[in-house]
Amino acid sequence: MEVFLIYLALFGTVLLLKFLSGYVYAYLIKKRKKEFGQQQDYYFRIVSGNIRYFNRLSPVEQEKFLFRTYLFHHQKKFHYVGVTTQPEMPVLISAVAVQLTMGLERFSLNYFKDIYVLKHDYHYGYYSLPFMGHVDNSGIYLSWDNFYQGIKNSSDVSNVGMHEMAHALAYVNFVTKTEEDRHFSQEFRYFSKVARPIFQAMQRGQRNLLGDYAATNYHEFWAVSVETFFGNPVRFQHQLPELYAAMVKLLNQDPVAQLKRPVES
Ligand SMILES: [Zn+2]
Repeated sequence: MEVFLIYLALFGTVLLLKFLSGYVYAYLIKKRKKEFGQQQDYYFRIVSGNIRYFNRLSPVEQEKFLFRTYLFHHQKKFHYVGVTTQPEMPVLISAVAVQLTMGLERFSLNYFKDIYVLKHDYHYGYYSLPFMGHVDNSGIYLSWDNFYQGIKNSSDVSNVGMHEMAHALAYVNFVTKTEEDRHFSQEFRYFSKVARPIFQAMQRGQRNLLGDYAATNYHEFWAVSVETFFGNPVRFQHQLPELYAAMVKLLNQDPVAQLKRPVES
């Protein structure tokens, strides 16, 4: 009988804690939404002026995009190394992460608390080639020159921001497992069934629009696939239709379909 009562008390406590944490969470989101409401126009101006993807979203999706951008921005500490800080920098970097995870439930890339913004290409570790960006256990690193060119230049698929966020997304799901998105981690197995043979053929010398760098290793294959998915979706779908379809399923969004939609003003 006593054991039963203890169980009952424990069960009640757990239920109460669950209820309270849900309540606190709802309260915090409401508070954040209110703060965001005061800054929404500011975020809108910066994002819509620089990220074409955003301007093809519906008004409801645009609001979701901006609120996520706001939350992401405030969850990170941005460090500026040898570069003059501009207010749009953290907003645009956050927006690129949000674009990648727009179709997913989890979008904080929560393991990464620090984002480092450098000016140009830089040297890292023992590598002889300069880096445009990288991700390691200390944070996400981006060079602003390359980042900005990546979001502005429509003819070039290279988008270092998207590339590094793709590494970061895989990192939180599969390395630290600190922010597993159930859909993403389950669907990644199916993606790999399609992607691995293409990657292996590239390692044997086969060429396609992903380019030689994607054959370096499977991590780079993934990051370049993400860049190309957003940067050159029409050609991607045409040349590698199965891989494109697997990406659509995995990220739960379709850039080709999105291109056919009118631009919101
Ligand atoms: Zn990479």
